[in-house]
Amino acid sequence: MPRGVAVLGSTGSIGTTALRVIARHPDRFRVSALTAYNNAPLLGEQVRELSPGFVGIVNGNGKQSSQGWITGVGCLVDAAELPGTDIVLNAIVGAAGLDATMAALRAGKRVALANKETLVLAGDIVMAAARQGGGEIVPIDSEHSAILQCIAGRSRADIRRVILTASGGPFRGWSTQQLADVTVDDALRHPTWQMGRKITVDSATLANKALEVIEAHFLFDLPYERIEVIVHPQSVVHSMVEFVDGSVIAQLGAPSMELPVLYALTHPDRIEDDAVARFDPIARSPLTFEPVAQDEFPALRLGYRAAVAGGAAPAVFNAANEVAVAHFLEGKLRFPQIPQAIESALDELGGMSSNTRDDLLLADSRARAHVEAGFGR
Ligand code: NAD
Ligand code: MG
Repeated sequence: MPRGVAVLGSTGSIGTTALRVIARHPDRFRVSALTAYNNAPLLGEQVRELSPGFVGIVNGNGKQSSQGWITGVGCLVDAAELPGTDIVLNAIVGAAGLDATMAALRAGKRVALANKETLVLAGDIVMAAARQGGGEIVPIDSEHSAILQCIAGRSRADIRRVILTASGGPFRGWSTQQLADVTVDDALRHPTWQMGRKITVDSATLANKALEVIEAHFLFDLPYERIEVIVHPQSVVHSMVEFVDGSVIAQLGAPSMELPVLYALTHPDRIEDDAVARFDPIARSPLTFEPVAQDEFPALRLGYRAAVAGGAAPAVFNAANEVAVAHFLEGKLRFPQIPQAIESALDELGGMSSNTRDDLLLADSRARAHVEAGFGR
């Protein structure tokens, strides 16, 4: 019997990639549910092609519900909890993905997780839900997929450190002065990856790598001093693990999300897929590595600050970043103001309490309001 996959965020960059990958393996996987935020035309096309048993649209209206689609934010948890869903592929962008991830883990399901913001907002609570419910998270993020593949069953005690690679984004090598006036179009022109708008801006500020450091901490239960970031502009070495004996194992591949999506579905197995882009070392050479320009890209340093502080600080980092990026995309903030908004929110709210989900959601909403209100500018 093929396993049922609920694809949450099916109209996005990862969501459409996932549907392409799933369609190539009908003997193993079938789409049990699709959800989107408001792209009804594309969702409708996907429904006609795949006939899932459940369709949800978060921002839908009455017209859509007459098609049998479930509307409103509750559709995400409903899709995750469906008996016919074995794997929840969470490709939602931002904190909105939290409840569906939690519901799936509590129900003992696998979450193929692209939605890294979920772990940054509430990593402790999410990992506890997995332990209690018997669910598991398998990362789709290419760096974390790489680390999982490099670890390949070794225990945490064997790991000296993990090294996350960053492309450096479109502004690698730019000075603070050059970064002051970059446009939205500049920021959306990523050199190696085709992705949704929010993560593309995150890659330009390096906030994406900050989120990924926190994601790695929770996924692999590693302290922050054992998680490092280096710049690797070719995006071919997806990350590396150094073991206690000094051996370093890296995972390589063409810069395409198809492989990490496929692996998140099949882990720990590997299955044949001729359509995944092949890696040609000669064509991709040379491979280079360089340190992160910390002064020009302060979001990474702020990410470590929030990470080490712990508590509600990562949630504040994430929420401030989400709002600042949205405002940047709307032309309301300049590029350097994204890390400024994060720093201000951390100064103001980073110490908020974080014992419960409600505490974290309060910190999240206060951070959003702080940036909405101009973060004391
Ligand atoms: P995207 O903007 O292309 O797609 C986002 C999807 O989420 C859409 O289907 C949209 O309908 C849905 N969505 C948006 N807001 C929602 C809300 N409030 N409630 C419910 N659904 C909502 O984004 P993407 O690039 O596919 O990224 C998705 C996630 O995957 C992000 O967390 C991102 O960081 C992560 N990720 C993406 C890539 C990539 O290559 N695109 C790589 C690694 C990780
Ligand atoms: Mg990544």
